[in-house]
Parts: sequence; C-alpha cells; structure tokens
Amino acid sequence: MNLHEYQGKEILASYGVKIQKGKIATTVEEAVAAYGDIVEDSGNDVVVVKAQIHAGGRGKGGGVKLAKNEKELREHAGNILGMMLKTPQTPGGIEGPGKLVRKILIAEDSYAPDFDACKEYYVSILMDRERRQNVVIYSTEGGMNIEEVAEATPHLVFKEYIDPTLGMLPFQSRKIAFNLGLSGSAFKDMVKFITNLYKAFVGSDASLFEINPCLKSANDEIIAVDTKVSLDDNALFRHPDLAVMRDVLEEDPTEVEAKEYGLNYVNLDGNVGCMVNGAGLAMATMDIIKLSGGAPANFLDVGGTADAARVESAFRIILKDPAVKAILINIFGGIVRCDRVAQGIVDAYKSMGNIRVPIIVRLQGTNAEIAKKLIDESGLEVRSAILLQEAADLVSEVLA
Ligand code: GDP
Ligand code: MN
Repeated sequence: MNLHEYQGKEILASYGVKIQKGKIATTVEEAVAAYGDIVEDSGNDVVVVKAQIHAGGRGKGGGVKLAKNEKELREHAGNILGMMLKTPQTPGGIEGPGKLVRKILIAEDSYAPDFDACKEYYVSILMDRERRQNVVIYSTEGGMNIEEVAEATPHLVFKEYIDPTLGMLPFQSRKIAFNLGLSGSAFKDMVKFITNLYKAFVGSDASLFEINPCLKSANDEIIAVDTKVSLDDNALFRHPDLAVMRDVLEEDPTEVEAKEYGLNYVNLDGNVGCMVNGAGLAMATMDIIKLSGGAPANFLDVGGTADAARVESAFRIILKDPAVKAILINIFGGIVRCDRVAQGIVDAYKSMGNIRVPIIVRLQGTNAEIAKKLIDESGLEVRSAILLQEAADLVSEVLA
C-alpha cells in the first residue's frame, strides 16, 4: 500500500525524524487558513504548495510551487487543486491523462533563509531480497531522479546493508553521514535522522521509505522534504492506525474491485489475460506467455477455491481491460477438482454471455481428463489443453 507524502511525513515525525512541516487542504479556503498557521509558526511568508498524488516527479509536472504571499498562495492552490497532474510516474507518463489532484500540502519553505546554502541528498531504505537484509541507499546527488544518478554516476550512489536481526548499528549511521561528506552538527543530525528513519521503516513494516530530497538546511538541520512510503499489505493487520491511510481513489479501480472479491490482481501492459491459481504458477504462466511471443495483461491469482463465482468475477475483472485479446486459464487441481473448475468456467461463460475474446483453458491435476472433455463438449468458444506448452501455443495461434 502506497501512502501520500503527507502521510509518510506523519509517520516520520512520530519517530522523531525532522520533516518539512505542513498542513493538508482540499479547498483554497483551507489552504489560506493553513498558510496563516504556517507563516505564524515559521515567521516566513514563503510556503510551498505540493500536490498530493501517488506519483513522484510532481515538481516537473507543475505540482510543486512556491508562494511568496497570500495572493500567490491562492493562485497556486486554485491551479493545483483539481488539476490533472501529469508526471513521468503517472499512468501513461506525461503523454497519459494524468492524475486528479484532490489534496494539497501547504508546507513551510525548508530552504529558507538561504537557498544556496542548502544541499539536497537522497536517502532510501528498502529490503534486498537476495541478501535477506534491509539496505539503505544514499547519495550526495539528491533532488533528482535516482535512477538517472545511478546510471550516469554509479560511484555517487552508496549502499549500506542492515542485518534485520541486529538492526542499524551506530557505526553504520556514522558511516552514512561520513560518506555524505557531512561534519559538525549536520553530521550529528544526519546520524539521528538515519537512525530514526530506520526505526520508522521497521516499526511500520514498510517495504520502502524514500526521502528525496533529504535536505541539509541553511542552519545545518537535516530535514525530510519529500517522502515516498510503501507499506507491506501483509503486515497492515498489525497497524490499524496505518491501514486507515489507504486512499482507494489513488489505486487502480480494477485492482480495488478485485481485492473485494478476494482476488490477487495486478494490471499489466500486455494483451493476454491470465487466470491462474497460486502466485508461483501465475508467474510461470506469465513467463511462458512471454516466451511464446505474447505479453501478459495482468497477474491474477484466484486462490485455492476456484469455484464458479470466483471464476466469473475473475472473468469480469480481466475483461475490463480493453487491451485483452485472449484469456489463458491455467489451473492446477490439487485441492480443487479440475472438473468442478471446468464446470465453473462453462457456467461463468454462459452466464456472462458476451465474452468477446478466445479462451484457452489448461487444467492439470485431479480429474483433468474429465475436465477437458467437459470443456470440449460444451460447444463454447473455449479451447483446452493439458500441457502448459500446448496452452501457450494455442495462445500464439489465436493472437496471430
Ligand atoms: P517531487 O517532484 O514529486 O519529487 O516533489 P518534491 O517534494 O521532491 O519537490 C520537488 C522539488 O521542489 C524539490 O526537489 C525542491 O527543489 C523543490 N522544493 C520542495 N520543497 C521546497 C521548499 O520548501 N522550498 C524550495 N525553495 N523548494 C522546494
Ligand atoms: Mn521528490
């Protein structure tokens, strides 16, 4: 589950990480009230207006603007609220439709009083699955797209691996501050920043905390100016206070609907819809589709109980994607019997009526032969296969 910048900052603040302070607004009037509070707090008339959407690169798309007075604040708040913000990270990129901005963050100007005396760093924490450790990725080149920095100047991107059983050791946070070239009070502040950031990462069961830019202010304070947070869905039950931060309006509507049916669905770019039971089999199925020259339109794990109702809701979800040109159903009947799944497919097909794409079904396991017969004799536009390769070949055939 992804969070908004302002929500990520709330978590950080609760762990003692210094943040660029701000207030959320959904109308221009709320923005003006927030502006008054922030100016009173900071003693600085300059604030920054930041669109809150689940995508980065907002600055480049016009979603982050400085306001020097109330007039400018009204202007920017009015322009940004309700805009369709296009960034390289919104669906379809800058050529796409953009994302509707429903909320803005009015934040203090962290770069005051001397913009040129500030320095932007990059800090993130995530899990390295291969090493089975957490990793802090950090760089002196903050504020920019880290992928570009890693490509052009890989020697400026550092990694510090953290053993999850030991946690972050004091020498590690000092090494990070040292490698960032800091000294004096900025060094000490960075050590504290990194230590608390790691606590926030572990404490909230996050899979990603990315602070870009992580700012050294004019008076040598280390401040999180931007925050991207992803939380582990499987751990959310332990964090009811964080679970309520979910913003379904920011999520793919089809994925949200799939979740309601208990389906594990991820929308992808290809043209072959997949309906599979088990995550591992789903990934193997996507691989073989690719190897056969197609591209998966989705990942969909229907789970252990592939009954008619579930198969039907899975059909509906897959068919919402206009790019789908064929559907491959690949079910291994271990606990469920293949003939029951086959009956479910036939029933769902009949009850839905207007299925517009060819369907290839591969049922393997208990009663697979009976299932194949059921499908072959159903008279429907459904082709069956027993081997996965046969199924993949059928997919290439119908796409050709
Ligand atoms: P992103 O574009 O979605 O990554 O949004 P950020 O929060 O990272 O903001 C983009 C850029 O806006 C930053 O890299 C800064 O250069 C600038 N910015 C953000 N906050 C402030 C601020 O308080 N003062 C000034 N002067 N610039 C800011
Ligand atoms: Mn940023």
